[in-house]
Amino acid sequence: MASSVHEMLPSWYPLRKVGGEVSLDILLEIGKKRIDFLLSVKDTHYKEVDTNHDVVLGNISLCIVAAISGDAYFTNWLLETEGDVFEHFFARSDSTEKMAILRDVLGEVIVGLAEIAEKINMSTEKIVGYLSTIKRVRKRAMFQLLSTFQEYNIAMARFERAYRIIKKERGILIRGWVIAPLAEFFSAIKSYYQDKLKERIQKIRERISQQVDKVPYEEFARELLTYWRNKRAIRMPKRDSFIFFGKDVWQKPELFPPCSRILFDRFLTTGYIPHGERVQLALFLKAIGMPLEEQLKFWYRAVDNVGLSWDEFLKKGGYYIRHIYGLEGSRKNYNAPKCDTIISKYFCPFSRISVSELGGVLRNINKNITREYLDEIRDLCISREYKKACAVFLRSLIGENKGIRIYEIRHPVQFVRLVRKYSRNLKVRKHEGEISKNL
Ligand code: SF4
Repeated sequence: MASSVHEMLPSWYPLRKVGGEVSLDILLEIGKKRIDFLLSVKDTHYKEVDTNHDVVLGNISLCIVAAISGDAYFTNWLLETEGDVFEHFFARSDSTEKMAILRDVLGEVIVGLAEIAEKINMSTEKIVGYLSTIKRVRKRAMFQLLSTFQEYNIAMARFERAYRIIKKERGILIRGWVIAPLAEFFSAIKSYYQDKLKERIQKIRERISQQVDKVPYEEFARELLTYWRNKRAIRMPKRDSFIFFGKDVWQKPELFPPCSRILFDRFLTTGYIPHGERVQLALFLKAIGMPLEEQLKFWYRAVDNVGLSWDEFLKKGGYYIRHIYGLEGSRKNYNAPKCDTIISKYFCPFSRISVSELGGVLRNINKNITREYLDEIRDLCISREYKKACAVFLRSLIGENKGIRIYEIRHPVQFVRLVRKYSRNLKVRKHEGEISKNL
């Protein structure tokens, strides 16, 4: 029986059993193809995707990366995307393939009212009676459903494998078995498939931890992780490029202070920044005028929302964003934190990034920054005068000898206001030959 189930598993199913051995070099190439495939399915809506790769080995390859690297964002992306791909192909599989997958994922599955009644030694009348209570329909209507629709055929699996159906009140629990219409098992199968992927990752982790030489696996994981990050980085700016061409301040990251700019760029590139830094950036974007709708669209790109529909996101992350705009909970209108608060609680690059790395980070924002400015910033950071260091960075952007004296930045929004004002004043100066001293 077990072998016939495996023979009926479709070729797209990554958890099929395979034999033999393969080198890490070959696995690396297959892993890259799997990454390309997983990244392309959403863009192309499964049309014209390159499926010319070994699905099983591709999946194993990426599970090795998740197991060795411990990278939560990669693992999350892998589970969500593989889950979506599974859902897509499962919905298009025939009933034989669906049943084979169900049995592979859930173990023993018994289908048919008579078979179930015999197995648990209970009358069919009684089982249908319990089911009709759950479904809130009359017993006669339940019988009619069962006999009319194939997917309303009754199925049964062990509780430890199918407990979510009970948790969602979509089936009944009798003598350690979950009994529900087959359709309920089909709709729950994606999450159990993702559990199986997690098990695969865990098993790989345990197996590799017993290896004497782990270095080749670590190098393998590092290379594929870099490949994935680069591919994602190429894709994300394309989708987000519209942000850079608007008229409003929130559409001009070149005006942002380094703290917000770094977080903004990091989020667009990786789809991730930690929770506290999300709050910091969200409050800043709100403070410079980003409308709620745009802010919702912006955060929907987060890697942890991969696989969530827009409506699901609005219920989850969307709630927190509306909260920030004073539309949920205490309905308080939150302000963006000032520099002192950011320095002590959130992300200020001058206080958080080591002086040895800071120069390179700042040069990414202002490629024309001079050695003198960087040295001055370094000295101020060493003496913990971060707000003064920020003012020096601002001067590196707007230039010296314009009659402007800015000694320290107190608020990220002030930074934006100063850069904007400088831009306006530049035009004024061109025409009038003077510039404000009261920035
Ligand atoms: Fe941003 Fe304030 Fe830090 Fe300057 S001091 S970088 S504005 S947080």
